[in-house]
Amino acid sequence: MLTGIAFAIALALVVFVAYPLLSTVTEGRGTLPIDVTPLADLKRRRLVLYENIQDLEFEYKAKKIARDDYESLRESYTAEAVRLLAAAQAIERTSPEDAFIEQEVALRRAQRRTPPKDEYVCPQCGFENPLPVKFCGDCGARLRSRGQGAGNRP
Ligand SMILES: [Zn+2]
Repeated sequence: MLTGIAFAIALALVVFVAYPLLSTVTEGRGTLPIDVTPLADLKRRRLVLYENIQDLEFEYKAKKIARDDYESLRESYTAEAVRLLAAAQAIERTSPEDAFIEQEVALRRAQRRTPPKDEYVCPQCGFENPLPVKFCGDCGARLRSRGQGAGNRP
């Protein structure tokens, strides 16, 4: 009984002494923690972006950059932050086993600017219509219809 208590106290002491050493190893300044999860990495990158946006706004208010540059930079920063946030949310919705795969999928999906065009390619002339349309924007040929067979010409 008494030795059990003594052992528990000794163990607690060891943990108490060792804990700061362990935590300084993982939170060392300048170096990345070894156990960075995809989620933590996404959050870190997002926070960096927010800082960039703040800096950008400061520079714009100080009239150090032109309005056009400010707006385009801000837009791209914001788009990137949204992309990272969406990827993080995709990870949080899934189990840890699938998290990494889901992150990769979400990132690639977000990176892809244009939707797959296979359905929009005209069989007659090969023109790639930018939107799902019933008739080819180039030659006017009827494209593969979805669901309905015969529709009214728009
Ligand atoms: Zn066509």
